[in-house]
Amino acid sequence: MSLKNQVETQLPTDWGIFKIIAYSEDADDWMPHIVLVHEKTDFEKPVAVRLHSECLTGDIFHSLKCECGKQLHRAMDYFSKNGGILIYLRQEGRNIGIIDKLKAYKLQEKGMDTVQANLSLGLPSDGRSFDEAITILEDLDVKSILLLTNNPEKIKAFENSKVTLIDFISIEIEPTKENEGYLRTKRDFFKHFLNLASI
Ligand SMILES: [Zn+2]
Repeated sequence: MSLKNQVETQLPTDWGIFKIIAYSEDADDWMPHIVLVHEKTDFEKPVAVRLHSECLTGDIFHSLKCECGKQLHRAMDYFSKNGGILIYLRQEGRNIGIIDKLKAYKLQEKGMDTVQANLSLGLPSDGRSFDEAITILEDLDVKSILLLTNNPEKIKAFENSKVTLIDFISIEIEPTKENEGYLRTKRDFFKHFLNLASI
């Protein structure tokens, strides 16, 4: 089976009107990838794209342990001015799922960082692939993109794809006391493009 556009319709939001599309292999999938295409998107020019891995705690509950929710809203602000596409990937906890992510949080309370916690649960430090996101962009007939990211793995994912990555736009969020350890691991272990001069 392969990923299919299951349904598309309009979604008015605080950031303007989007086309919302659900992509999954199976029409009964309760957790399809969700794509939002802003009404201002011009497919003749490089399209701003954010590949956002689901983070329930950050995106919905505005957790201070990570900066996912703030990055999501920064991307939505960008799309409201310039157009663009959000691909909301159902990859909770870098694809370990919400239960294991919360187990990892428990271990972090005892002093482990996000990588040590995942590894001690027998899980990968990052279990994500961005191949499905690229399949979706190809299906939408996107030719070239500007990627909103700090993550070199997301940039690398476009190396052998039909979608040309023209450039990336960094979305660095100010560290806070609650997330600075997490951001430091992102910078030092995952090699994200973050300056974070203060930490
Ligand atoms: Zn998060």
